[in-house]
Amino acid sequence: MTTCNAAKLPSQWEICYTVETLPVVGLLMDGKGHWSSMVSSAVNASAAPADTTILPRSAHSISRSQIDENTLKVLYRLHRNGYQAYLVGGSVRDLLLGRTPKDFDIGTDATPQQVKKLFRNCFLVGRRFRLAHIRFGRDLVIEVATFRRHPHPDELPEDPDEHGTFLQNQFGTPREDAFRRDFTINALFYNIADFSIVDHVGGLQDLENRRLRVIGDPGVRFAEDPVRMLRALEFSARLGFTLDTETLEAIAENAQVITEAAPARVREELLELFRHGVGAEVLQQAQSLGLLQPLMGGYQPGERIFKLLASLNQHFCKTGNVDEAMIMACLFIDRFWHKCPVHASLPINEVLLSAGHLLTPYCNHFRLAHGLRHQAREMLIGCYRFARGLGHRGQKRFLLNPETPRALEMFRLWNQASGGDPALVDIWQKALHTGHEPTEKPVRPPGRRTHHRPRRRRRSKQELGRS
Ligand code: ATP
Ligand code: MG
Repeated sequence: MTTCNAAKLPSQWEICYTVETLPVVGLLMDGKGHWSSMVSSAVNASAAPADTTILPRSAHSISRSQIDENTLKVLYRLHRNGYQAYLVGGSVRDLLLGRTPKDFDIGTDATPQQVKKLFRNCFLVGRRFRLAHIRFGRDLVIEVATFRRHPHPDELPEDPDEHGTFLQNQFGTPREDAFRRDFTINALFYNIADFSIVDHVGGLQDLENRRLRVIGDPGVRFAEDPVRMLRALEFSARLGFTLDTETLEAIAENAQVITEAAPARVREELLELFRHGVGAEVLQQAQSLGLLQPLMGGYQPGERIFKLLASLNQHFCKTGNVDEAMIMACLFIDRFWHKCPVHASLPINEVLLSAGHLLTPYCNHFRLAHGLRHQAREMLIGCYRFARGLGHRGQKRFLLNPETPRALEMFRLWNQASGGDPALVDIWQKALHTGHEPTEKPVRPPGRRTHHRPRRRRRSKQELGRS
Protein backbone atom coordinates (compact mmCIF):
# COMPACT_ATOMS: atom_id res chain seq x y z
CA MET A 1 0.00 0.00 0.00
CA THR A 2 1.24 3.48 -0.77
CA THR A 3 1.79 5.58 2.30
CA CYS A 4 1.57 9.32 2.38
CA ASN A 5 3.50 12.05 4.12
CA ALA A 6 1.99 13.43 7.24
CA ALA A 7 -0.34 16.29 6.46
CA LYS A 8 1.44 19.61 6.94
CA LEU A 9 -1.60 21.26 8.37
CA PRO A 10 -1.38 23.74 11.17
CA SER A 11 -3.59 23.04 14.15
CA GLN A 12 -7.13 23.56 12.98
CA TRP A 13 -8.21 25.76 15.86
CA GLU A 14 -5.48 28.34 15.39
CA ILE A 15 -6.24 28.95 11.75
CA CYS A 16 -9.96 28.56 11.62
CA TYR A 17 -11.44 31.74 10.10
CA THR A 18 -15.01 31.97 9.09
CA VAL A 19 -15.89 33.92 5.99
CA GLU A 20 -17.53 36.63 8.03
CA THR A 21 -14.30 37.54 9.80
CA LEU A 22 -11.71 37.07 7.06
CA PRO A 23 -10.91 39.96 4.74
CA VAL A 24 -10.66 38.10 1.43
CA VAL A 25 -7.96 40.13 -0.27
CA GLY A 26 -5.16 38.69 -2.35
CA LEU A 27 -2.59 39.21 -5.07
CA LEU A 28 -3.16 38.49 -8.69
CA MET A 29 -0.60 38.08 -11.43
CA ASP A 30 -1.64 39.48 -14.79
CA GLY A 31 -0.64 37.99 -18.14
CA LYS A 32 2.65 39.98 -18.13
CA GLY A 33 3.67 38.70 -14.71
CA HIS A 34 2.75 41.88 -12.80
CA TRP A 35 1.13 41.60 -9.41
CA SER A 36 -1.85 43.60 -8.29
CA SER A 37 -3.90 43.48 -5.13
CA MET A 38 -7.53 42.63 -5.49
CA VAL A 39 -10.62 41.80 -3.52
CA SER A 40 -11.77 38.27 -4.00
CA SER A 41 -14.97 37.73 -5.88
CA ALA A 42 -14.83 34.11 -4.91
CA VAL A 43 -16.51 34.21 -1.55
CA ASN A 44 -19.55 36.23 -0.84
CA ALA A 45 -18.99 36.74 2.88
CA SER A 46 -22.50 37.82 3.69
CA ALA A 47 -24.05 34.84 1.86
CA ALA A 48 -21.76 32.11 3.18
CA PRO A 49 -22.69 30.36 6.41
CA ALA A 50 -20.54 30.52 9.51
CA ASP A 51 -19.37 26.91 9.25
CA THR A 52 -17.29 27.66 6.15
CA THR A 53 -13.59 27.67 6.96
CA ILE A 54 -11.06 29.67 4.99
CA LEU A 55 -7.34 29.08 5.35
CA PRO A 56 -5.45 32.13 4.11
CA ARG A 57 -2.27 31.54 2.11
CA SER A 58 -0.09 32.03 5.18
CA ALA A 59 -1.85 29.18 7.00
CA HIS A 60 -1.44 26.36 4.48
CA SER A 61 1.33 24.71 2.54
CA ILE A 62 0.05 24.86 -1.05
CA SER A 63 2.27 26.95 -3.28
CA ARG A 64 1.57 27.83 -6.89
CA SER A 65 4.91 26.29 -7.85
CA GLN A 66 3.30 22.90 -7.11
CA ILE A 67 0.46 23.54 -9.56
CA ASP A 68 0.85 22.73 -13.22
CA GLU A 69 1.52 25.93 -15.20
CA ASN A 70 -1.25 25.37 -17.76
CA THR A 71 -3.75 24.83 -14.97
CA LEU A 72 -2.64 28.12 -13.47
CA LYS A 73 -3.09 29.84 -16.85
CA VAL A 74 -6.70 28.58 -17.04
CA LEU A 75 -7.43 29.62 -13.46
CA TYR A 76 -6.01 33.10 -14.03
CA ARG A 77 -7.84 33.67 -17.29
CA LEU A 78 -11.18 32.69 -15.76
CA HIS A 79 -10.51 34.94 -12.82
CA ARG A 80 -9.39 37.92 -14.94
CA ASN A 81 -12.66 37.64 -16.84
CA GLY A 82 -14.70 37.99 -13.69
CA TYR A 83 -15.45 34.35 -12.98
CA GLN A 84 -14.78 32.39 -9.83
CA ALA A 85 -12.02 29.86 -10.41
CA TYR A 86 -10.98 27.17 -7.96
CA LEU A 87 -8.71 24.19 -8.01
CA VAL A 88 -11.01 21.41 -6.84
CA GLY A 89 -11.17 17.74 -5.91
CA GLY A 90 -8.27 15.35 -5.44
CA SER A 91 -5.52 17.83 -6.32
CA VAL A 92 -6.18 20.07 -3.29
CA ARG A 93 -6.38 17.01 -1.02
CA ASP A 94 -3.12 15.59 -2.37
CA LEU A 95 -1.21 18.88 -2.22
CA LEU A 96 -2.24 19.34 1.42
CA LEU A 97 -1.03 15.82 2.16
CA GLY A 98 2.31 16.49 0.47
CA ARG A 99 1.52 14.07 -2.36
CA THR A 100 1.77 14.66 -6.09
CA PRO A 101 -1.70 15.04 -7.62
CA LYS A 102 -2.61 12.77 -10.52
CA ASP A 103 -4.34 15.63 -12.30
CA PHE A 104 -5.69 19.12 -11.64
CA ASP A 105 -9.39 19.82 -11.99
CA ILE A 106 -10.95 23.26 -12.05
CA GLY A 107 -14.34 24.43 -10.77
CA THR A 108 -15.88 27.71 -11.91
CA ASP A 109 -19.14 29.63 -12.00
CA ALA A 110 -18.69 30.21 -15.76
CA THR A 111 -21.05 28.01 -17.77
CA PRO A 112 -19.50 25.54 -20.23
CA GLN A 113 -20.41 27.92 -23.09
CA GLN A 114 -18.75 30.87 -21.32
CA VAL A 115 -15.61 28.79 -20.79
CA LYS A 116 -15.60 27.87 -24.47
CA LYS A 117 -15.69 31.54 -25.44
CA LEU A 118 -12.57 32.24 -23.35
CA PHE A 119 -10.39 29.45 -24.73
CA ARG A 120 -9.77 28.65 -28.38
CA ASN A 121 -8.45 25.22 -27.37
CA CYS A 122 -11.67 24.33 -25.52
CA PHE A 123 -14.02 21.46 -26.37
CA LEU A 124 -17.30 20.74 -24.66
CA VAL A 125 -17.70 17.08 -23.84
CA GLY A 126 -20.27 14.83 -22.18
CA ARG A 127 -23.82 14.24 -23.25
CA ARG A 128 -25.41 14.45 -19.83
CA PHE A 129 -22.80 16.26 -17.81
CA ARG A 130 -21.41 19.10 -19.91
CA LEU A 131 -17.74 19.70 -19.17
CA ALA A 132 -15.17 21.95 -20.79
CA HIS A 133 -11.92 20.27 -21.81
CA ILE A 134 -9.06 22.64 -22.49
CA ARG A 135 -6.29 21.07 -24.50
CA PHE A 136 -2.63 21.90 -24.25
CA GLY A 137 -0.44 20.15 -26.78
CA ARG A 138 -1.23 16.56 -27.59
CA ASP A 139 -1.48 14.95 -24.21
CA LEU A 140 -2.65 17.49 -21.65
CA VAL A 141 -6.34 18.10 -21.07
CA ILE A 142 -7.55 20.31 -18.23
CA GLU A 143 -11.10 19.68 -17.13
CA VAL A 144 -13.19 22.69 -16.18
CA ALA A 145 -16.56 21.97 -14.54
CA THR A 146 -19.23 24.50 -13.72
CA PHE A 147 -20.31 24.43 -10.06
CA ARG A 148 -23.39 22.27 -9.68
CA ARG A 149 -25.97 21.61 -7.05
CA HIS A 150 -28.51 18.99 -6.00
CA PRO A 151 -31.96 20.10 -7.21
CA HIS A 152 -34.90 20.06 -4.82
CA PRO A 153 -37.27 17.12 -5.37
CA ASP A 154 -40.12 19.41 -6.51
CA GLU A 155 -37.91 20.84 -9.28
CA LEU A 156 -37.53 17.46 -11.02
CA PRO A 157 -39.11 17.06 -14.46
CA GLU A 158 -42.24 14.90 -14.65
CA ASP A 159 -40.65 12.33 -16.95
CA PRO A 160 -38.32 10.15 -14.80
CA ASP A 161 -36.15 9.47 -17.89
CA GLU A 162 -35.15 13.12 -17.87
CA HIS A 163 -34.09 13.11 -14.21
CA GLY A 164 -30.52 12.00 -14.89
CA THR A 165 -29.70 14.84 -17.27
CA PHE A 166 -31.58 17.35 -15.14
CA LEU A 167 -29.77 16.30 -11.95
CA GLN A 168 -26.36 16.61 -13.56
CA ASN A 169 -26.86 20.05 -14.99
CA GLN A 170 -28.23 22.25 -12.24
CA PHE A 171 -25.62 24.93 -11.84
CA GLY A 172 -25.01 26.11 -8.29
CA THR A 173 -22.72 27.98 -5.93
CA PRO A 174 -19.28 26.70 -4.82
CA ARG A 175 -20.81 25.70 -1.51
CA GLU A 176 -23.59 23.73 -3.20
CA ASP A 177 -20.98 22.13 -5.41
CA ALA A 178 -18.95 21.06 -2.37
CA PHE A 179 -21.96 19.29 -0.84
CA ARG A 180 -22.55 17.38 -4.08
CA ARG A 181 -19.13 15.73 -3.85
CA ASP A 182 -18.43 12.32 -2.30
CA PHE A 183 -16.07 12.73 0.68
CA THR A 184 -15.20 15.75 2.78
CA ILE A 185 -11.49 15.52 1.89
CA ASN A 186 -12.44 15.57 -1.83
CA ALA A 187 -14.46 18.76 -1.48
CA LEU A 188 -11.73 21.27 -0.61
CA PHE A 189 -11.23 24.26 -2.89
CA TYR A 190 -8.12 26.33 -3.62
CA ASN A 191 -9.20 29.83 -4.61
CA ILE A 192 -6.96 31.46 -7.22
CA ALA A 193 -8.32 34.89 -6.24
CA ASP A 194 -6.48 34.96 -2.93
CA PHE A 195 -4.69 31.57 -2.77
CA SER A 196 -6.82 30.54 0.19
CA ILE A 197 -8.37 27.15 0.84
CA VAL A 198 -12.12 27.11 1.21
CA ASP A 199 -13.70 24.30 3.21
CA HIS A 200 -17.50 24.09 3.39
CA VAL A 201 -17.74 20.51 4.64
CA GLY A 202 -15.16 19.98 7.39
CA GLY A 203 -12.61 18.35 5.08
CA LEU A 204 -9.60 20.08 6.68
CA GLN A 205 -10.45 18.61 10.06
CA ASP A 206 -10.88 15.16 8.52
CA LEU A 207 -7.53 15.46 6.73
CA GLU A 208 -5.93 16.25 10.05
CA ASN A 209 -7.66 13.31 11.74
CA ARG A 210 -6.87 11.05 8.77
CA ARG A 211 -10.52 10.14 8.46
CA LEU A 212 -12.53 9.46 5.32
CA ARG A 213 -16.02 10.80 5.83
CA VAL A 214 -18.94 10.74 3.41
CA ILE A 215 -20.66 14.09 2.88
CA GLY A 216 -24.19 13.61 4.22
CA ASP A 217 -25.82 10.32 5.17
CA PRO A 218 -23.69 7.44 3.79
CA GLY A 219 -26.74 5.26 3.14
CA VAL A 220 -28.44 7.97 1.07
CA ARG A 221 -25.26 8.92 -0.79
CA PHE A 222 -24.46 5.27 -1.64
CA ALA A 223 -27.98 4.61 -2.86
CA GLU A 224 -27.71 7.75 -5.00
CA ASP A 225 -24.46 6.54 -6.59
CA PRO A 226 -23.33 3.01 -5.61
CA VAL A 227 -19.84 3.47 -7.11
CA ARG A 228 -19.11 5.70 -4.11
CA MET A 229 -18.92 2.52 -1.96
CA LEU A 230 -15.96 1.28 -3.97
CA ARG A 231 -14.42 4.74 -3.94
CA ALA A 232 -14.73 4.85 -0.15
CA LEU A 233 -12.71 1.63 0.18
CA GLU A 234 -10.25 2.85 -2.45
CA PHE A 235 -9.47 6.22 -0.86
CA SER A 236 -9.26 4.81 2.64
CA ALA A 237 -6.70 2.23 1.39
CA ARG A 238 -4.77 4.68 -0.80
CA LEU A 239 -4.38 7.30 1.89
CA GLY A 240 -4.35 5.02 4.95
CA PHE A 241 -7.41 6.89 6.30
CA THR A 242 -9.97 5.30 8.61
CA LEU A 243 -13.55 4.72 7.59
CA ASP A 244 -16.07 5.11 10.36
CA THR A 245 -18.42 2.30 11.42
CA GLU A 246 -21.43 4.12 10.01
CA THR A 247 -19.88 4.12 6.52
CA LEU A 248 -18.80 0.48 6.73
CA GLU A 249 -22.29 -0.53 7.84
CA ALA A 250 -23.84 1.51 5.03
CA ILE A 251 -21.63 -0.35 2.51
CA ALA A 252 -22.70 -3.73 3.91
CA GLU A 253 -26.36 -2.66 3.80
CA ASN A 254 -26.25 -1.23 0.28
CA ALA A 255 -23.87 -3.77 -1.29
CA GLN A 256 -26.50 -5.21 -3.66
CA VAL A 257 -27.24 -1.77 -5.13
CA ILE A 258 -23.86 -1.84 -6.88
CA THR A 259 -25.45 -4.11 -9.49
CA GLU A 260 -27.36 -1.04 -10.68
CA ALA A 261 -24.16 0.91 -11.42
CA ALA A 262 -23.01 1.12 -15.01
CA PRO A 263 -20.50 -1.74 -15.53
CA ALA A 264 -18.18 0.60 -17.45
CA ARG A 265 -17.85 2.86 -14.36
CA VAL A 266 -17.28 -0.07 -12.03
CA ARG A 267 -14.63 -1.43 -14.38
CA GLU A 268 -12.86 1.93 -14.48
CA GLU A 269 -12.85 2.15 -10.66
CA LEU A 270 -11.52 -1.43 -10.46
CA LEU A 271 -8.62 -0.51 -12.73
CA GLU A 272 -8.05 2.60 -10.63
CA LEU A 273 -7.49 0.34 -7.60
CA PHE A 274 -4.68 -1.44 -9.38
CA ARG A 275 -3.20 1.83 -10.68
CA HIS A 276 -2.87 2.93 -7.08
CA GLY A 277 -1.50 -0.37 -5.78
CA VAL A 278 -4.49 -1.23 -3.57
CA GLY A 279 -6.32 -3.77 -5.76
CA ALA A 280 -5.90 -6.84 -3.52
CA GLU A 281 -6.50 -4.96 -0.29
CA VAL A 282 -9.68 -3.25 -1.46
CA LEU A 283 -11.17 -6.33 -3.11
CA GLN A 284 -10.56 -8.32 0.04
CA GLN A 285 -12.27 -5.68 2.14
CA ALA A 286 -15.11 -5.55 -0.39
CA GLN A 287 -15.48 -9.29 0.07
CA SER A 288 -15.68 -9.01 3.84
CA LEU A 289 -18.46 -6.41 3.43
CA GLY A 290 -20.42 -8.53 0.94
CA LEU A 291 -19.70 -6.05 -1.86
CA LEU A 292 -17.41 -8.14 -4.02
CA GLN A 293 -19.85 -10.67 -5.42
CA PRO A 294 -22.43 -8.15 -6.68
CA LEU A 295 -19.57 -5.94 -7.86
CA MET A 296 -18.05 -8.63 -10.04
CA GLY A 297 -21.21 -10.02 -11.58
CA GLY A 298 -21.40 -12.98 -9.18
CA TYR A 299 -17.72 -13.94 -9.14
CA GLN A 300 -15.97 -14.50 -5.82
CA PRO A 301 -12.21 -15.23 -5.66
CA GLY A 302 -10.65 -17.45 -3.01
CA GLU A 303 -7.94 -16.69 -0.44
CA ARG A 304 -5.03 -17.70 -2.73
CA ILE A 305 -6.21 -15.29 -5.40
CA PHE A 306 -5.90 -12.31 -3.06
CA LYS A 307 -2.29 -13.27 -2.43
CA LEU A 308 -1.72 -13.46 -6.17
CA LEU A 309 -3.43 -10.10 -6.74
CA ALA A 310 -1.15 -8.51 -4.16
CA SER A 311 1.98 -9.72 -6.04
CA LEU A 312 0.38 -8.69 -9.31
CA ASN A 313 -0.19 -5.20 -7.97
CA GLN A 314 3.44 -4.93 -6.87
CA HIS A 315 4.42 -6.01 -10.37
CA PHE A 316 2.28 -3.23 -11.90
CA CYS A 317 3.83 -0.67 -9.55
CA LYS A 318 7.29 -1.75 -10.75
CA THR A 319 6.45 -1.70 -14.46
CA GLY A 320 4.18 1.37 -14.19
CA ASN A 321 1.64 -0.43 -16.34
CA VAL A 322 -1.69 -1.98 -15.39
CA ASP A 323 -2.50 -5.02 -17.52
CA GLU A 324 -6.24 -5.67 -17.46
CA ALA A 325 -6.01 -9.02 -19.26
CA MET A 326 -3.53 -10.22 -16.63
CA ILE A 327 -5.84 -9.12 -13.81
CA MET A 328 -8.62 -11.14 -15.38
CA ALA A 329 -6.46 -14.21 -15.91
CA CYS A 330 -5.27 -13.99 -12.26
CA LEU A 331 -8.83 -13.66 -10.97
CA PHE A 332 -9.80 -16.90 -12.70
CA ILE A 333 -6.66 -19.01 -12.46
CA ASP A 334 -7.79 -21.05 -9.43
CA ARG A 335 -10.99 -22.09 -11.18
CA PHE A 336 -9.01 -22.73 -14.32
CA TRP A 337 -6.74 -25.26 -12.55
CA HIS A 338 -9.82 -26.85 -11.10
CA LYS A 339 -11.30 -27.37 -14.57
CA CYS A 340 -8.02 -28.19 -16.27
CA PRO A 341 -5.71 -29.95 -13.81
CA VAL A 342 -2.25 -30.42 -15.29
CA HIS A 343 -2.10 -34.12 -14.36
CA ALA A 344 -5.16 -34.78 -16.56
CA SER A 345 -3.04 -34.04 -19.66
CA LEU A 346 -5.94 -32.53 -21.57
CA PRO A 347 -5.47 -31.63 -25.21
CA ILE A 348 -4.84 -27.92 -25.71
CA ASN A 349 -8.11 -27.48 -27.63
CA GLU A 350 -10.07 -28.64 -24.63
CA VAL A 351 -8.09 -26.33 -22.33
CA LEU A 352 -8.80 -23.48 -24.69
CA LEU A 353 -12.54 -24.10 -24.58
CA SER A 354 -12.60 -24.37 -20.79
CA ALA A 355 -10.66 -21.12 -20.36
CA GLY A 356 -13.07 -19.38 -22.74
CA HIS A 357 -16.12 -20.65 -20.84
CA LEU A 358 -14.69 -19.46 -17.56
CA LEU A 359 -13.99 -15.94 -18.74
CA THR A 360 -17.12 -15.35 -20.81
CA PRO A 361 -19.65 -14.43 -18.06
CA TYR A 362 -17.22 -11.93 -16.52
CA CYS A 363 -16.38 -10.40 -19.92
CA ASN A 364 -20.07 -10.17 -20.81
CA HIS A 365 -20.87 -8.51 -17.49
CA PHE A 366 -18.27 -5.79 -18.03
CA ARG A 367 -18.84 -5.72 -21.81
CA LEU A 368 -15.15 -6.29 -22.43
CA ALA A 369 -13.76 -6.34 -25.95
CA HIS A 370 -13.01 -9.70 -27.55
CA GLY A 371 -9.33 -8.81 -27.81
CA LEU A 372 -9.05 -8.55 -24.04
CA ARG A 373 -10.83 -11.86 -23.49
CA HIS A 374 -8.51 -13.46 -26.03
CA GLN A 375 -5.41 -12.14 -24.26
CA ALA A 376 -6.61 -13.38 -20.86
CA ARG A 377 -7.42 -16.79 -22.32
CA GLU A 378 -3.98 -17.04 -23.96
CA MET A 379 -2.37 -16.24 -20.62
CA LEU A 380 -4.24 -19.05 -18.90
CA ILE A 381 -3.31 -21.48 -21.64
CA GLY A 382 0.30 -20.28 -21.44
CA CYS A 383 0.25 -21.09 -17.70
CA TYR A 384 -1.10 -24.54 -18.50
CA ARG A 385 1.75 -25.16 -20.95
CA PHE A 386 4.34 -23.92 -18.46
CA ALA A 387 2.93 -26.02 -15.64
CA ARG A 388 2.91 -29.28 -17.61
CA GLY A 389 6.61 -28.89 -18.36
CA LEU A 390 8.86 -29.04 -21.38
CA GLY A 391 8.82 -31.13 -24.49
CA HIS A 392 5.21 -31.05 -25.63
CA ARG A 393 3.83 -30.63 -29.07
CA GLY A 394 3.70 -27.06 -30.40
CA GLN A 395 6.35 -25.87 -27.97
CA LYS A 396 8.53 -24.21 -30.58
CA ARG A 397 5.66 -22.09 -31.89
CA PHE A 398 4.66 -21.29 -28.33
CA LEU A 399 8.17 -20.04 -27.49
CA LEU A 400 8.20 -17.81 -30.55
CA ASN A 401 4.80 -16.28 -29.78
CA PRO A 402 5.33 -12.62 -28.73
CA GLU A 403 2.70 -13.03 -26.00
CA THR A 404 4.56 -15.89 -24.26
CA PRO A 405 6.89 -13.72 -22.09
CA ARG A 406 3.81 -11.95 -20.69
CA ALA A 407 2.22 -15.30 -19.83
CA LEU A 408 5.48 -16.39 -18.19
CA GLU A 409 5.44 -13.26 -16.03
CA MET A 410 2.01 -14.22 -14.85
CA PHE A 411 3.06 -17.83 -14.29
CA ARG A 412 6.00 -16.58 -12.19
CA LEU A 413 3.63 -14.57 -10.00
CA TRP A 414 1.26 -17.49 -9.69
CA ASN A 415 4.13 -19.83 -8.84
CA GLN A 416 5.34 -17.47 -6.10
CA ALA A 417 1.88 -17.00 -4.64
CA SER A 418 1.10 -20.72 -4.61
CA GLY A 419 4.52 -21.96 -3.46
CA GLY A 420 5.33 -23.71 -6.77
CA ASP A 421 8.76 -24.84 -7.97
CA PRO A 422 10.78 -21.76 -9.03
CA ALA A 423 13.10 -23.99 -11.11
CA LEU A 424 10.28 -24.57 -13.58
CA VAL A 425 10.00 -20.82 -14.24
CA ASP A 426 13.77 -20.57 -14.70
CA ILE A 427 13.83 -23.39 -17.24
CA TRP A 428 11.17 -21.68 -19.33
CA GLN A 429 12.88 -18.32 -18.97
CA LYS A 430 16.08 -19.86 -20.30
CA ALA A 431 14.23 -21.48 -23.17
CA LEU A 432 12.68 -18.14 -24.06
CA HIS A 433 16.02 -16.33 -23.95
CA THR A 434 17.92 -18.76 -26.09
CA GLY A 435 14.98 -18.98 -28.48
CA HIS A 436 15.73 -22.66 -28.94
CA GLU A 437 13.68 -25.62 -28.07
CA PRO A 438 15.01 -27.05 -24.80
CA THR A 439 16.86 -30.31 -25.15
CA GLU A 440 15.46 -31.98 -22.06
CA LYS A 441 13.48 -35.12 -22.59
CA PRO A 442 9.70 -34.68 -22.65
CA VAL A 443 8.15 -34.80 -19.22
CA ARG A 444 5.02 -36.89 -19.42
CA PRO A 445 2.83 -38.25 -16.68
CA PRO A 446 3.72 -41.88 -15.95
CA GLY A 447 1.59 -44.69 -17.32
CA ARG A 448 0.07 -42.67 -20.10
CA ARG A 449 0.73 -43.33 -23.75
CA THR A 450 0.43 -40.79 -26.42
CA HIS A 451 -1.71 -41.88 -29.32
CA HIS A 452 -0.73 -40.42 -32.61
CA ARG A 453 -3.42 -40.36 -35.18
CA PRO A 454 -1.94 -41.72 -38.45
CA ARG A 455 -1.45 -38.88 -40.87
CA ARG A 456 -3.93 -38.94 -43.73
CA ARG A 457 -2.42 -39.52 -47.13
CA ARG A 458 -3.04 -36.66 -49.51
CA ARG A 459 -5.41 -37.83 -52.26
CA SER A 460 -4.30 -37.57 -55.85
CA LYS A 461 -6.23 -35.53 -58.45
CA GLN A 462 -7.57 -38.72 -60.07
CA GLU A 463 -8.81 -40.01 -56.73
CA LEU A 464 -10.50 -36.69 -56.03
CA GLY A 465 -12.14 -36.72 -59.47
CA ARG A 466 -13.55 -40.19 -58.89
CA SER A 467 -15.18 -39.37 -55.57
P1 ATP B 1 -7.63 10.85 -8.04
O1 ATP B 1 -7.80 11.59 -9.33
O2 ATP B 1 -6.36 11.10 -7.33
O3 ATP B 1 -7.96 9.40 -8.18
P2 ATP B 1 -9.87 12.45 -7.23
O4 ATP B 1 -10.41 12.80 -5.89
O5 ATP B 1 -9.40 13.59 -8.07
O6 ATP B 1 -8.74 11.39 -7.02
P3 ATP B 1 -11.63 11.81 -9.39
O7 ATP B 1 -12.26 10.51 -9.71
O8 ATP B 1 -10.63 12.39 -10.34
O9 ATP B 1 -11.01 11.64 -7.96
O10 ATP B 1 -12.83 12.84 -9.17
C1 ATP B 1 -12.59 14.23 -8.99
C2 ATP B 1 -13.53 14.78 -7.92
O11 ATP B 1 -14.89 14.65 -8.34
C3 ATP B 1 -13.46 14.04 -6.58
O12 ATP B 1 -12.42 14.55 -5.77
C4 ATP B 1 -14.83 14.30 -5.99
O13 ATP B 1 -14.88 15.58 -5.41
C5 ATP B 1 -15.71 14.33 -7.23
N1 ATP B 1 -16.31 13.00 -7.49
C6 ATP B 1 -15.82 12.00 -8.25
N2 ATP B 1 -16.63 10.94 -8.27
C7 ATP B 1 -17.69 11.28 -7.51
C8 ATP B 1 -18.90 10.61 -7.16
N3 ATP B 1 -19.16 9.38 -7.58
N4 ATP B 1 -19.78 11.28 -6.35
C9 ATP B 1 -19.52 12.53 -5.92
N5 ATP B 1 -18.41 13.21 -6.23
C10 ATP B 1 -17.50 12.60 -7.02
MG1 MG C 1 -8.67 13.41 -10.10
